Amino acid sequence: MRKSVLISAFLLFGSAMTFAQQAKYVFYFIGDGMGINHVNGTEMYLAEKQGRIGVEPLLFSTFPYTGLSKTYSTSNSVTDSAAGGTALAVGEKTSNGTIGMNSDHTKSLESVAEKAKKAGRNVGVATSVSIDHATPASFYAHQPSRKMAYEIGTDLAKSDFDFFAGSGFVSPKNKKDAKAPDLFDLYRKSGYKVVRGVDEFNKLKKKDDKVILIQKEGKNVYSLPFAVDSKEDDLTLTQITESAISHLTRDNKGFFVMIEGGMIDWSSHSNDGGTTFEEVIDMDNAIKKAYEFYLQKPDSTLIVVTADHETGGLSLGRGNYVMDFKLFDNQKVSQSELSTQLRDFATGNPSVSWDMMKDFLASKLGFFSAVAISESQEKKLIEEFNRSFKSNDSQKAESEYFKDEKLAALAVQILNENAKAGWTTNSHTAAYVPVFAVGVGADKFTGVMENTDIPNKITTIAEY
Ligand SMILES: [Zn+2]
Repeated sequence: MRKSVLISAFLLFGSAMTFAQQAKYVFYFIGDGMGINHVNGTEMYLAEKQGRIGVEPLLFSTFPYTGLSKTYSTSNSVTDSAAGGTALAVGEKTSNGTIGMNSDHTKSLESVAEKAKKAGRNVGVATSVSIDHATPASFYAHQPSRKMAYEIGTDLAKSDFDFFAGSGFVSPKNKKDAKAPDLFDLYRKSGYKVVRGVDEFNKLKKKDDKVILIQKEGKNVYSLPFAVDSKEDDLTLTQITESAISHLTRDNKGFFVMIEGGMIDWSSHSNDGGTTFEEVIDMDNAIKKAYEFYLQKPDSTLIVVTADHETGGLSLGRGNYVMDFKLFDNQKVSQSELSTQLRDFATGNPSVSWDMMKDFLASKLGFFSAVAISESQEKKLIEEFNRSFKSNDSQKAESEYFKDEKLAALAVQILNENAKAGWTTNSHTAAYVPVFAVGVGADKFTGVMENTDIPNKITTIAEY
């Protein structure tokens, strides 16, 4: 009798243990373009802001398990976000440009998100850029090219996932076929409620609806504003994360959610260090919401943070064994916002002089006071000012996502030079990217791994 009680107690305890070890709740954060130096640089920037040399850790870099991931694709040593996102979503490498398919586009590949849905979990896909962009698309779409934004959008309607969030959709109408349905109509017909802004999301009563959360009408559909440019009424990645948690916990099914800090990549393409570090901090703030959730359910939650590739070839230091990253604290706007404001300022002041422009750059970047500008740097700035604003030969600096005023790009380049942040490319690199994990199964994310190992490990740990 006594023995059987003990045995059943053991069985009960044993099965409770098994249950407790399953990752019922999975957060998968992807910092697009977030290399190791992006993380370390942000931490050193935070320390320098406090007036000291060293690192001020981000929350996610203190997670107990860390590893490295190899990012090359089947077609290129240097991956793009489509092949990188697909590897992180489906657990198989593919060719650059491809979304959720194999290298020669003969086969669709099932993502960890789709597996989670099949296993009965609630599923969310969220980003700070457009929902049809390469990284989020890799989790729900299967298309031969990342450029097929409309077709990617139609795959969303078929996904049956519970929650999507981001800036919007870049191609709600099919540009090649006027008779094809508008994506928003398609979503409504598929049972999605499209809400604009968190206020609208918070007013939702029917929590059984599938939800797509995007920015308010009239905002940029391509991305949220950079964190450094964000205004009171702008949607933020932290709000998106809170909304995802709220919606995906509306019942007891458990969840899988992928949340992308998509614009770390964008400012890195422009070699804009200050904006990039603020983007990493912004993603860390979103991760704090996931961590609060983990603290409530530590026995059933897994958080994994990684990146699809490194962008910019960022170096911490560029000679003389010094860094001066605290200078980035003087940067009040991103390069792209600086470009817009600078053009507006010049348009509003047709007889703008270099002295006026100097004051303008001082107010936005701290130039000529907190940020000392050398004679040769000022000479370059004056030359560009004269060319772009006096001889009306407006020069543009083109990067992957922006066409900025050359004077804005030059000013940001000078700030990066003086802060001793080095950039080797306006594109991606093949560098290792970091992996951080906490929670159930987090100990599996150590050592050097393939990017494809990450979703495969999640699939095993969460029992999809
Ligand atoms: Zn990129």
